Amino acid sequence: MTFGPFQSTLHVVECIMAPAPLKILIVEDEVKVARFLRRGLEGEGYAVDTAADGVTGEQKVRTNSFDLLILDVLLPHKNGFDVLRDLRTDGIVLPVLMLTARSSTEDIVSGLDSGADDYLTKPFSFDELLARVRSMLRRSASRTELRVADLVLDTVSRKAQRTGRTIELTTREYTLLEYFMRNEGKLVNRQQLARDVWGYDFDPGTNIVDVYVNHLRKKIDAGFPSRLLHTERGQGYVLEHRPGVK
Ligand code: CA
Repeated sequence: MTFGPFQSTLHVVECIMAPAPLKILIVEDEVKVARFLRRGLEGEGYAVDTAADGVTGEQKVRTNSFDLLILDVLLPHKNGFDVLRDLRTDGIVLPVLMLTARSSTEDIVSGLDSGADDYLTKPFSFDELLARVRSMLRRSASRTELRVADLVLDTVSRKAQRTGRTIELTTREYTLLEYFMRNEGKLVNRQQLARDVWGYDFDPGTNIVDVYVNHLRKKIDAGFPSRLLHTERGQGYVLEHRPGVK
């Protein structure tokens, strides 16, 4: 048997490969605080990067994939509220823990308004911060729903619902719907669908895409008060809620 040793090698490789550590960015200009947080979080097994001003911090978020951002409010070059507002405006959704200098209601309200998920008032204990970080990471990991208007897709159970009614989908229909939902509001053409949903890097030369889209449309739109999957004649399809369009 030649594949026996090969299989056990694979098994060993699988055992060695630990999951990648979660990545946290700390944007904090007070060197002591940044160092204290970095050491503590690294000690808990997180991969930690730091930035000492708002502009550098924002740049790092835009060019890396962090699982969580710890963001101070008073920062050189650009304050934490402005950094966060600009990130959220561009659709960047990572969880953000704001550090506010004092227990000022105004600061807290501004922080939550600009898109923070949680905040801590300085001074705080490391245990307090760690508890917040863990709970935020847990919450973001369990976010598995995609939503467009009243259409909800659970990416774990792979079931769709509209107005609470379950919609049964085949494997291909599920993949197609998930693709449309992740591209909400964008015009998607047949070539993109053939490539990204079917894996064809050539034009299949049939109407298979249109057939599936029509099947899917019947399931998610027929019998519901508004239509979500729209055809742009000669161009492709758009999944979005258009108020007033039946
Ligand atoms: Ca500061």
